Amino acid sequence: MYKIISGKEVSEAVKLRVADEVKQLKANSIEPCLAVILVGDDPASRVYVNNKKKACEFCGIRSLEYVLPAETTQDELVALVEKLNEDKTVNGILCQLPLPKHLDEKTILNLIRPEKDVDAFHPENVGHIMIGDFNFLPCTPAGIMEMLRYEKIDLDGKNCVVIGRSNIVGKPMAMLMLKENATVTICHSRTKNLKEIVAGADVIVAAVGRPNFVTADMVKEGAVIIDVGINRMDDGKLCGDVDFDACKEKASYITPVPGGVGPMTIATLMQNTITATKIQAK
Ligand code: NDP
Repeated sequence: MYKIISGKEVSEAVKLRVADEVKQLKANSIEPCLAVILVGDDPASRVYVNNKKKACEFCGIRSLEYVLPAETTQDELVALVEKLNEDKTVNGILCQLPLPKHLDEKTILNLIRPEKDVDAFHPENVGHIMIGDFNFLPCTPAGIMEMLRYEKIDLDGKNCVVIGRSNIVGKPMAMLMLKENATVTICHSRTKNLKEIVAGADVIVAAVGRPNFVTADMVKEGAVIIDVGINRMDDGKLCGDVDFDACKEKASYITPVPGGVGPMTIATLMQNTITATKIQAK
């Protein structure tokens, strides 16, 4: 019998905790503020930015939104990030990815001051994650760890397989699981025998970006399945990387899409904004 891990439920708990912290900060005349930059009119990015704004409202965090046209130049974007870096009333800066192709993503992400880097993409923050000593954790992997803790799923000594090696999800996910004493394997598009490797996993994290990539024959009885994928189908519906209906029958725990990892990513962003505020208030 499987249990669905509700990202909606766990993220509510995180956001309520954050809202409490915001109240305490405000009682000390500190108002946390998150600035979100959106360049262009990608509809999915627009939805993510709106959801982040709603979460800020729920938690009592002041949110600033900078919506720039798709033809914004690198210099204009650099100038905005530098302005926000200097602004003492802004605690967190997030630049919604992907940026239009003519803009250099790496330069922009590296420009955000590490103490305001609530996405934890700056090399300095990535380095801290590698050595297990960090202020911010990347939102999606940290949200997944929060879900596992909420369900009291212990990773000590478990075989965890992460499918996907992106800097945003796969790689930091593996580091966080390693920190909890799991034995971690990272699979990617060049992995040989991927099915066999995944079939040996106690915990599977699928971050591939391909609908129904993980099928029931790849899942060990009792495995925990975390589906990070967000794929929009032709009918407009969202679907994950896991064949949910078939895989759930073999799983002990499984996350749905939507309503799984997605809300956790945003809740962690709220938590990171509070952490940033506290660091800057010191
Ligand atoms: P990337 O495209 O950056 O990475 C995808 C990874 O999957 C790569 O490492 C790639 O391997 C691997 N991959 C692709 N095809 C295969 C294959 N056939 N076999 C094995 N591995 C394969 O994506 P992200 O990590 O940014 O995102 C992954 C998914 O998660 C997307 O659907 C995205 O929308 C979603 N997402 C969801 C979030 C949430 O909050 N729920 C947050 C962030 C992302 P290689 O490196 O070899 O190319």
